Amino acid sequence: MFVCAGCQRELGALEFLHEVSVWWPELECGRRICAACGHREEVGLRPGVVELGYLYSAGTAHFARMWEQTLPGLGVLRGADGLRLRYAGEIWHVPVEQIG
Ligand SMILES: [Zn+2]
Repeated sequence: MFVCAGCQRELGALEFLHEVSVWWPELECGRRICAACGHREEVGLRPGVVELGYLYSAGTAHFARMWEQTLPGLGVLRGADGLRLRYAGEIWHVPVEQIG
């Protein structure tokens, strides 16, 4: 179970993952936009792990992981065109967004 930091809405893991709409391979994170309140947050995804954090600039942008939650069964495959996510019997694609 996840809680939106913007509206405190509780989300199931599948709903949370589907709100991650772009992936930035250079930063190893993507962006989730809450469908209810529009809150934006940076999310890292690894096999079996969801990371939450924020972007900061130190010459170049970096993703700072603040918190992570294990999510058994989450499959994450990285490709040139984005991420392929697999969870709860669904497989879908999160496209890369170029920075700058
Ligand atoms: Zn929200």
